[in-house]
Amino acid sequence: MAQNVDLILTNAIVLTMDDQLHQFESGAVAVQGDSIIAVGLERDIKNSFNAMQVVDCGCKVLMPGLINAHTHVPMTLLRGLADDLRLDVWLMGYMMPVEREFVSPDFVQLGTKIACAEFIRSGVTSFADMYYFEEDVARAASEAGLRGLCAQTVLKFPTPDAESYEDSLAMARDFIKRWVGHPLIIPSVAPHAPYTCTDEILKATAQLAVEFDVPLHTHLSETALEVENMRRETGMPVIPYVKKQGLFEAKVLAAHCVHIDEGEIRTLKHLGAGVAHNPTSNLKLASGVAPVTKMLEVGLNVGIGTDGPASNNDLDMFEEVRLAALLAKNHTNDPTSLPASAALTMATRLGAQAMHMGHITGSLEAGKRADLILLDISKLHNSPRFKRDSNNIYAQIVYASKSTDVTDVMVNGKWLMRENKLLTLNEADLLKAAGEYARKIDTFLTAREQSILSKLIALGGSSEEESFEVQVKVKVSDPNPVYDGLKNPSIEIIRKRHYRQHDMYFFFEDDSQGRLRYREDDFIDEANQVTSVRGRLTLLGVQREGSFGHDILLSRSRYLAPATHSLRFYREYFKPDKELPVEKDRLRWLVAFKGEEFFINLDHLLQPDLGYYLEIKSRTWSRKDAEVKATLVEELITLLGASTQDVVTNDYTVIVDTN
Ligand SMILES: [Zn+2]
Repeated sequence: MAQNVDLILTNAIVLTMDDQLHQFESGAVAVQGDSIIAVGLERDIKNSFNAMQVVDCGCKVLMPGLINAHTHVPMTLLRGLADDLRLDVWLMGYMMPVEREFVSPDFVQLGTKIACAEFIRSGVTSFADMYYFEEDVARAASEAGLRGLCAQTVLKFPTPDAESYEDSLAMARDFIKRWVGHPLIIPSVAPHAPYTCTDEILKATAQLAVEFDVPLHTHLSETALEVENMRRETGMPVIPYVKKQGLFEAKVLAAHCVHIDEGEIRTLKHLGAGVAHNPTSNLKLASGVAPVTKMLEVGLNVGIGTDGPASNNDLDMFEEVRLAALLAKNHTNDPTSLPASAALTMATRLGAQAMHMGHITGSLEAGKRADLILLDISKLHNSPRFKRDSNNIYAQIVYASKSTDVTDVMVNGKWLMRENKLLTLNEADLLKAAGEYARKIDTFLTAREQSILSKLIALGGSSEEESFEVQVKVKVSDPNPVYDGLKNPSIEIIRKRHYRQHDMYFFFEDDSQGRLRYREDDFIDEANQVTSVRGRLTLLGVQREGSFGHDILLSRSRYLAPATHSLRFYREYFKPDKELPVEKDRLRWLVAFKGEEFFINLDHLLQPDLGYYLEIKSRTWSRKDAEVKATLVEELITLLGASTQDVVTNDYTVIVDTN
C-alpha cells in the first residue's frame, strides 16, 4: 500500500550526490515534513507514495543545495569597501577600524539577511559562519529559513561585541546554550586564528565546544607568513601547534589550510577535522593554493567556502566550485585532477561533512533534511546536453551553469524560493538599508582618509604626547669639542645611552598633514652589541608653537604609536608621496645644567652621509619657562664648542632636500 507524504517532486534529473553519486532520470523525491523520505526513479516513487502535493520539476536538475563551508555573512555590508590590498592592511587598516565603529546587532542582522537572499538566489542552503554578535546572525538566518553553523568569534583583542576575550567566551557559551538543538542553526565557537588568539583561548574554546558537543570553527595556515611566524616562535608548524593546545579535542572546521604539508593533512584526517577551501579569497589575497587534491586523496572532508563577501566579493558558490576545479588542475599540472563530480561533491556532501553536519544535509538521501534546489540547464549558455557519460551532467553544472540558473530552493522541507521569487526576504528593503550603511561608512572613511592623524588613530594604540619641547639642532664639523665640552664642571651627566636609529620618513603632498616617522631603535651596549630593538611610529607636526633666537624652536604635540606592524604595512596603509630613509648613530646624554635637565644628542648621520649634528632638547611646561630654557640652550651650544650660527631650522630631511 502506498505511503502518504506531503510532497513529491517529479520529472527531474535527480543528482543525489551520495557516496555512489546515484542519478535518477526521470527521477523524483518524496518529502515528509522537514525530511526526505525517498529518492528514486519517478515511477518507483509514484508507486510507493501518495502525496498531498506533486510538483513537476520540468526536467530541471534536482540536487542538494550547495554548502558554503566558510564565510562571514554580515560582511555583505562591507563588500567592495577596500580591495586590492594585502591581508594585514585590509584587515587591520580597513576592516577592523570600520567594524569597531559600525558593527552592532542591527548591522549584523541586516548583513546576514542580505547574505541569505544572495544564498537562496544562488542555490546555497547551508553555510558556516564566523563573526561578532553571532546570535544575531543565527536569528536573521533562521528567520530567512537558511541552515547555518554559526560561530561566535573569540579574539585576544577587544571586538565590536566584547571588551575582552573572557566576555566573548561568555557570549559564546550563552549563545550555544540557548540555540543548541535548534532545527536550522548549530551554534558554535570560533577562536579566530592562532595568531589572533592566545593558547588559553584555543584551549578554552575547544573545551566549550566539547562541553556542548558542537563544532569549532577557525582559520588555520592561511598564509606562508603565519606558518613562518609560528615556526619561529614555537619551533613547529600550525597544525601540530594547535593540536598541542588541545584544539582537536573539539570537532574542528578549519578554513584555508593553504600551507600545510602531508603530515599535517594526515593529522587533520586522523583527528576528524574538516577543511574549508576558499579559492577566490586565497587567490585575491595571494595567499597561495591549498593542496586540495592531496587532501582528498588522504580522505579528508574538504568543503568549499566563499570566505567573507568583503574579500571575494560575492557569495556565489557556482563560481567557487568552478574555480576549485580549475585551480586544482593548474596546481598539480594535471587536467584530470579534481574532476567536476568531485568538485561538486566538495560543494555538497563533503562540505556538510567538513562542517560535521553530514548526517543532516549535503546529499539527497532518505532520512536527511529536505535541503534541495532546482537548476535549469536548458539555457543557451548550457546547451546542448550529452547523456553518453553520466559525468557529463556534473561538467555541465561545474563548468557552464551559473548561479542565476537556480530557480527554486527548499530548506528543511520549506520553500525559500519558487520560480525565482524569494519567499522569506524582501530584497528592495534590504538594498535600501544597505545603501544607508554604505553612505555612513563612506563618510567615516572619507573623513579618516583626509588626515594622516586620523588614519594613525584608526589603527589603535596611539597616544598624543603634549610634549612642549624647547629644541635646537646645530651642525658640527667635529664631534671632539662636544666630548670635551661635556667634561665642563657646570654640566652634570645623569646618564648616557647609545643607539643606532633607522628612520623612514613618509612625506605627504599636503605639508599640513605633518610627516610620519617609522623608527627602529637598536640599543647598543658598552661591548657594541645590540641589546634590544624598539619600533615606534611618530607623527611629527610641522607647526611650531613659537621660536626664540637662533631658531630655537618651541614645539608641539605629537602622536606616538608602538610600531606593531612592518614598514611595508605602513607604506601600503599611509601611501606616502615621498619617502626618505635616515640612518644615524646616536649618543644621548641626560644632563643637568644650571638646575635644569636637558637631553643632548650627538648624531652621526650615516645615511645620508651628512656628518655630525648636535641636538639639545628640554621639556617645558609654559612659555615663560621655555624662554628661560631657550637662553640656557644657547649657553650650552657655546659650551659644547658649537656655534649658534650653525643652527639649522628643521630636520635632516629638509637639509637633504635643499642640497
Ligand atoms: Zn575567513
